[in-house]
Amino acid sequence: MNRIVLLGPPGAGKGTQAKRLATELGIPHVSTGDMLRAAVAQGKSLGKEADEYMRKGLLVPDALVLGILRERLASPDARRGFILDGYPRNVAQARTLAEITPVDHVLYFEIPESVLVERMSQRRSCPTCGTVYNLLTNPPRTPDRCDRDGTPLIQRPDDTEEAVRTRLAVYREQTLPLLDLYRNQGLLRTVAAAGSVEEVNARVRAALR
Ligand code: ADP
Ligand code: AMP
Repeated sequence: MNRIVLLGPPGAGKGTQAKRLATELGIPHVSTGDMLRAAVAQGKSLGKEADEYMRKGLLVPDALVLGILRERLASPDARRGFILDGYPRNVAQARTLAEITPVDHVLYFEIPESVLVERMSQRRSCPTCGTVYNLLTNPPRTPDRCDRDGTPLIQRPDDTEEAVRTRLAVYREQTLPLLDLYRNQGLLRTVAAAGSVEEVNARVRAALR
């Protein structure tokens, strides 16, 4: 089965690859970051609780994230597999995930930190449909407007220099230990995540074979 976890630092291109892979494999892209941002945008109580952590670049408390994840993985379209992007992010979350579902592949997106900082500083997204652009590598056809619906693009509030620094530190401290955990389970495949979207897509597909 294709129960896939994408692991890697913020800005590594996990969301970009997950969206393509979801179409190619016919399984859903499950992004806890996207779900939390949707909860914030819709003014849900979960969003109100999560917003402050997200703005600072800190992890949202495990119990809040677990609720939305559990619900999403229980929906019928996730029965034939899923691409999990942004979960697990610490050892406790990895343990919880193992209790909810087995995982078949863990792909680690390896990339130099200098590339990440540049990718995040140039990232823009559409608040209406969620399409993600990059001003340098994947710009919209009309400056600052979404190609799909013309909505003015926004910069994520956690793509500021300070929040990015925090997110990278949180990643190193809390998420990196998961590499050993999944390596020891024989699930980890490393994907070189620098290079064009097409090049990385080819490496991702090769890693899944
Ligand atoms: P993540 O989900 O890992 O945080 P994203 O998929 O949002 O990362 O990508 C971060 C930024 O880098 C976005 O602006 C995206 O358009 C851009 N990007 C993604 N993959 C590549 C790539 N292979 N080459 C250049 N830019 C990329
Ligand atoms: P992402 O879109 O994956 O970069 O996530 C953006 C932000 O959402 C993170 O910096 C966290 O604040 C929050 N977040 C997303 N996924 C998780 C998770 N699994 N656990 C805790 N916080 C999360």
